[in-house]
Amino acid sequence: MKKIEEYVRSIPDFPEPGIIFRDVTSVLQDADGLQLAIDSMQNCLEGEEFDVITGLESRGFIFGMPIAYNLHKPFVLVRKAGKLPCETVSRTYELEYGSATIEMHKDSIKPGQKVVIVDDLIATGGSVEAAIKLVEELGGEVVKVVFLMELAGLKGRERLKGYNVASVICYD
Ligand code: IMP
Repeated sequence: MKKIEEYVRSIPDFPEPGIIFRDVTSVLQDADGLQLAIDSMQNCLEGEEFDVITGLESRGFIFGMPIAYNLHKPFVLVRKAGKLPCETVSRTYELEYGSATIEMHKDSIKPGQKVVIVDDLIATGGSVEAAIKLVEELGGEVVKVVFLMELAGLKGRERLKGYNVASVICYD
């Protein structure tokens, strides 16, 4: 049986020279790769008690939603600004060039709920840190953060000190 890392395609110099892009489309377009990715991420939640799974647009939706379905939990969307139709809370965070804003519906997390956050990959940790702050602003407690991939060299985990972080594949 192939290991999950064997399904990830690595693209040198994308989107810029010097960057190795870890591509999940090659995982998803293989039935075994897809199942292994979801199962491996879901295994990270074994024994964890929680109420809600939250996924970051857009690849966090791909991986978070099937886990929520399998575990019979609600799934909450963290979206890019301007997409959600009802009242929202929002956070702006810095990117290498410019900034990004993400939003959640105000009624998507109830105060006191235990929340798991899912995304495909952690690089600098900026996106997930913003998502954590949104969940906490709504009164949720982030009990675990799960990624398929971690780019350890960018030290995103250091930004998430004090949180329970799991990744299935770790690149240097
Ligand atoms: P961060 O905010 O710097 O941790 O960047 C994480 C976000 O950027 C995630 O939502 C990823 O989808 C995306 N990202 C950054 N690098 C890669 C990559 O090599 N492959 C796929 N997605 C990436």
